[in-house]
Amino acid sequence: MPHLNRRHLLASFTLASLPGIGLAAKQRPEPAGVWPRALAVPGGVARLSLGPAAQRPRVQVRQGDADVPVLVVGDAIEWTAVLGVPLAAATGDAHVTVLPPTGAEDKARQIHFTVAPKRYAEQKLTVSPRTVDLSPQDQARYERERDHQARIMATWSEPSRGALASLHMRQPTPGRRSSSFGLRRVFNGQARNPHSGMDIAAPTGTPIVAPLPGTVIDTGDYFFNGGTVWLDHGHGVLTMYCHLSSIDVQVGDTLSAGDVFCKVGATGRVTGPHLHWGVMLNRTMVDPALFMD
Ligand code: ZN
Repeated sequence: MPHLNRRHLLASFTLASLPGIGLAAKQRPEPAGVWPRALAVPGGVARLSLGPAAQRPRVQVRQGDADVPVLVVGDAIEWTAVLGVPLAAATGDAHVTVLPPTGAEDKARQIHFTVAPKRYAEQKLTVSPRTVDLSPQDQARYERERDHQARIMATWSEPSRGALASLHMRQPTPGRRSSSFGLRRVFNGQARNPHSGMDIAAPTGTPIVAPLPGTVIDTGDYFFNGGTVWLDHGHGVLTMYCHLSSIDVQVGDTLSAGDVFCKVGATGRVTGPHLHWGVMLNRTMVDPALFMD
């Protein structure tokens, strides 16, 4: 679909969403470019209709031993939970819990959906041996960084006004996108975690822009990820940028979509310069391609 058409349709959708101007349900145009696209597979996104409600419903999903809040988008006419499905999710029946409004007597209700199977291929990589068989010092460093990252990933903030009006994301840096999300990875012959982001090949120093408005919530130089920035876009939507050669922002900085904030590099565990780009919903890395044309 040409760009102009999408903008036009989006404008009519927004108008139709205003109270008092809403079209009858059947005439209401589909919101053009529904982002992210729904693909209820491990590593994908489930879009779950919650129906109408005066206030934004609160939704949770059980992940490990935690109840994790879930992104809800829409308006009083129709709310939708936008749920990241973990790469490690079992296929088959799954559910989220819709909490009653604060103070209400109603019970929480469950919304069920089906996680369809998706088979990801295996990828064999050869990297520096010290990044596969970790020394005790590197192992200790990695564990500290893993715990720090878990705290970053649990961020839940109110989005700045309009920040989540569309979850359509621009490609953060020019270059060839690999379709390597979800690949089961074998480093130097040893099985490791699956690949949970998109790799974009680009020379060291290529500028990287924010794909949505956001706030910098972490910067650092990490054992596997190298130079890294995390952006918070609100309501559990986080993005991560790894292997950077340069970080041009500090924690607390706010960015508009399109602002340059870091540069491509080859730091951390890599086979060459590229951007590793992660997109997270409800503490779950999902396929960034679902947010893009
Ligand atoms: Zn990667």
